[in-house]
Amino acid sequence: GVCGHFPHKAHPEMTRTAAAPAPTQSPEPRCGFIGLIGRPNVGKSTLLNRLVGQPVSIITPKPQTTRNRIRGIRTEEAVQMVFIDTPGIHAGSRKLNQRMNQYALETLEGNDLLVWLVEPFPESEEAIPKKEQAVLEQFRGQESCTIVLLNKCDTATKVQVVRSLDLLGQAGAFLGIVPGSALKDQNLDPLLNLIRAHLPESPFFFESDQVTDATERFLVSEFVREALFRRLRQEVPYSTAVRVERFQESERCIEIDCQIFVERDSQKGIIIGKGGSMLKEVGTAARQRVERLLGHKVFLRLHVKVVRRWADDAFHLRQLGYE
Ligand code: GDP
Ligand code: MG
Repeated sequence: GVCGHFPHKAHPEMTRTAAAPAPTQSPEPRCGFIGLIGRPNVGKSTLLNRLVGQPVSIITPKPQTTRNRIRGIRTEEAVQMVFIDTPGIHAGSRKLNQRMNQYALETLEGNDLLVWLVEPFPESEEAIPKKEQAVLEQFRGQESCTIVLLNKCDTATKVQVVRSLDLLGQAGAFLGIVPGSALKDQNLDPLLNLIRAHLPESPFFFESDQVTDATERFLVSEFVREALFRRLRQEVPYSTAVRVERFQESERCIEIDCQIFVERDSQKGIIIGKGGSMLKEVGTAARQRVERLLGHKVFLRLHVKVVRRWADDAFHLRQLGYE
C-alpha cells in the first residue's frame, strides 16, 4: 500500500514544516491526508462539508457534480484532518470525464488514510454489488488504512444495514466499518475517532482557521455551478462550466463577473431563460451563498458564452481550471 507515504503526490506544494505552531503540551499533534472515495452520489461532498463544518464542496442530487479535487480542513485541538473530495470514478468518454477520473485515481495514492463511502446494499444482495466491487479493486492493497463508511443508513432498513456490514466485513481487512449518515449527522463520531487514532504524528499543514485551500474565486465559480446544476436538466448541466473573470473589492461591495460556458446556442437559451428569468434566479441563489462566504455585499454579474465542445478540448479545459 502507499498509505502513510509523503510527500503526497497530489499536493506536492505542501511541506510538513509550514503552519501554525501546535499546542506545546502533549499529546503530539497529528495531521494527515484522508482521501474520500466512492461511487458518484454516495455522499462524499456531503461528508466533507459536514466534517469541515461549512460548505467547501458543492452538493446536488445529480451525479458527477464534483469535478475537481477539493480539500477541506478540519482542525481540532491536537489533530488536523485534511480531507480530499474528488469526483467519483465514472464512465464517460469526454476529455472532461477523463480529467475527473484522473483526479479520483490520484486520490487513491499517497494518502495517510482512505474513507470509502458505500450505500447499503439491497436486501436481496448475497455479495457486494459489482459496481462497489469495482471501486474496491481500485484501492486493493490499501484496506488496512481504509475506513468504510456505510452512508445513508437513515434511508435503509435494519436488515440492509446488518447484511451490508456483514458483506463488507468479509470483503477485506479494513481499519473499521462504520454505519452512519453524513446528511443526518448520525454516528460520525466513531469515524472521527478512527481517523484521529490513525493519523501520523505531524505538525499541522494549515492554519487552524483555514477550512479549505481553494481560492475565493474558485468557490464563487463553484457556487454558480451549483446553482446551475440544481436548476438544469438532462445534459445541460454537464455542458456548463464557470469561470470568474473579474473580482474587484471596493469598500461598499465586491463586484464579480462570471462567465458561464456552454457548448451550444440552444443551451445558452435555456440558461438565460424567458426574459432572462433563469439567469436571474441562478444569479440570486449564487450571490446569496457568495455573500455568506465572503461576509460582504456582492454584486454578481453572469455572462453566457458558447464554446463548442469545450469539454473535449484540452486548451479550454486548462483555461477552465481542469488541469
Ligand atoms: P458525492 O457525489 O459522493 O459527492 O455525493 P453528494 O455529497 O453530492 O450527495 C449526493 C446526494 O446524496 C445529495 O442529494 C445528498 O443530499 C445525498 N446524501 C448524502 N449523504 C446522505 C445521507 O447520509 N443520507 C441521505 N438520505 N442522503 C444523503
Ligand atoms: Mg461530490
